[in-house]
Amino acid sequence: MSLPVAASLQSADETVVAIERTSCCIVGGGPGGAILAFLLARRGIPVTLLEMHKDFDREFRGDTIHPSTMEILDQLGLADRLHEIPHTKISGPTLQFADGPFRPFELGRLKTRFPYILMVPQSRFLEFITAEAAKYPPFRLVMHAQAQQLLLEEGIVRGVRYLASDGLHELRAILTVGADGRFSQVRHLAGIEPVKTAPPMDVLWFRLPKLQSELEITGGAFGGFGRGRIFIMLERDTYWQSGLVFPKGQYQRLRAEGVEAVRQSIVEIEPRLSRHAESLTDWQQLTLLSVESSRCSCWHRPGLLLIGDAAHVMSPVGGVGINYAIQDAVVAANVLASPLKAGTVSLRELAEVQRQREFPTRVIQAMQTFMQERLVGSVLGSRLSMIKTPWQLRLFVRIPVLRDFPARLIAFGIRRVRLRET
Ligand SMILES: Cc1cc2nc3c(=O)[nH]c(=O)nc-3n(C[C@H](O)[C@H](O)[C@H](O)COP(=O)(O)OP(=O)(O)OC[C@H]3O[C@@H](n4cnc5c(N)ncnc54)[C@H](O)[C@@H]3O)c2cc1C
Repeated sequence: MSLPVAASLQSADETVVAIERTSCCIVGGGPGGAILAFLLARRGIPVTLLEMHKDFDREFRGDTIHPSTMEILDQLGLADRLHEIPHTKISGPTLQFADGPFRPFELGRLKTRFPYILMVPQSRFLEFITAEAAKYPPFRLVMHAQAQQLLLEEGIVRGVRYLASDGLHELRAILTVGADGRFSQVRHLAGIEPVKTAPPMDVLWFRLPKLQSELEITGGAFGGFGRGRIFIMLERDTYWQSGLVFPKGQYQRLRAEGVEAVRQSIVEIEPRLSRHAESLTDWQQLTLLSVESSRCSCWHRPGLLLIGDAAHVMSPVGGVGINYAIQDAVVAANVLASPLKAGTVSLRELAEVQRQREFPTRVIQAMQTFMQERLVGSVLGSRLSMIKTPWQLRLFVRIPVLRDFPARLIAFGIRRVRLRET
C-alpha cells in the first residue's frame, strides 16, 4: 500500500526544533483521541496526544454521553466522578407533531445502571479525561500542536511533524492514530478519501434562556417541525441548547431575512416559546454548523489508523458521534495494546479494528440516512406549518418487542463494546 507524495513533503527551509519518541502518537484531542490516549497510558504504553487548539473549548459539537460510554467509564471507575460535573439527564426526546406529542424512544426502560444520556459540556468532559490520563506517567498531552506531515520510512508511517508555539517538532512513533475529526488532515495526508453517506443539511445553533415559569419537556429534549424547518431543544442546567435545521444552501436567504425570521420560525413551531425567542436579538448569537455524513472504505495504512469522525463522519441525528468515536477508541485499545507493548503493529491488527467497528458504524449511518432522507427530508421539503406523526412511527412504538429497539441502538449501537483488561 503506497502513500501519496503529500505525506512525505518536506521543505528544505523548515528547521525541526526537537525530535521526540513515543509508542503511539494520537493526532486530535477530541473524545476518540482523548479516550484512546487514556486507555493506552493506563496500560503503561507511552502515548503522546496532539491537539491543535490551545484549550478544549470549541464550537458546539454535542455534549451527549450515552449509556455505552457510561458503562465503559464505570468499568474504569470514573462514572461516579463524571457525575460530579454539573450535568443534565435526557431519557428521550418529545417530538411535537400537529396531532400531538410523540416519544420515539425511552431510555428509562433499558437494563443498565445509566438509563439516560448525560449532558456534560464537551470541554469539561475532555478536561476530565485528560486530567485522569495525566495520572499515568506514559501519557503526554501537547496542546496548540498541529500535525502537518506524516513521517515515512519505506512506505510505513513512523510518526508526524507538528507545529508547536516554538516551531516544528518531529514525533516518531510505532503507531500514528488520526483522531482529528471530520476534516482530518491525517486522512488527507494518507490519501484516504471518505464517501458521502447522507444528504447534507445545515443547523443554526443558539441558546435560549430558562425562564421562571418554565416549560415541562418530558425526557429533557424537544423537537418540532414546520414549514421546511426543524427546531430542536436540549435541556441544560441554566439554558436550552437549541438548533434550527434547514436544507443546505438556504443559509444566505435566512441570513438576509435576519434574526426576526429565526424567532418567527421558533414561535410558529412552538408558540409557548415566544418569550424565550425574544432573547434572540442579534445574528451574532447564532452559529452556523454544517452537517455531513461519510465513511472511509479503508481506515488504515501501514503504521497508521483512523478512528472516530476521521474514519466516519457522523451526522448529529441521534447524537451518537461522540460515543462511536469512543467505542472505536476502546476497540483500538483492546486490539492494539499488546502489539504496541511488543513494539510492532501489523496491518492485520489495524484491519481488525476496522473489522470490529465498521459494521456497527454502517448500521447507525444507515439509520441516520433513513431518518435524514425520510423524516428530516420530507419535513425540510414541506411548506406545511405543522406535520403529522408518520403512522409507521406510531405503530412501531406500540409493538412491545420492537419499541425498545431504537433506544437500545441509540444507547449501545448494535452490540455493547466492553473494555478488555489483558
Ligand atoms: C453540529 C453538530 C452537532 C453534533 N452533535 C452531536 C451530539 O449531540 N452528540 C454526538 O454524540 N455527536 C454529535 N456530533 C458529532 C460529534 O461531534 C462527532 O461525531 C465527534 O466529535 C467525533 O469525535 P472525534 O474524537 O472523532 O473527533 P472530534 O471531536 O472532531 O475531535 C477532533 C480533534 O482533532 C483536533 N485536530 C484536528 N486537526 C488536527 C491536527 N492537524 N493536529 C492536531 N489536532 C487536530 C481538533 O481540534 C479536535 O479537537 C455533532 C456534530 C456536529 C457537526
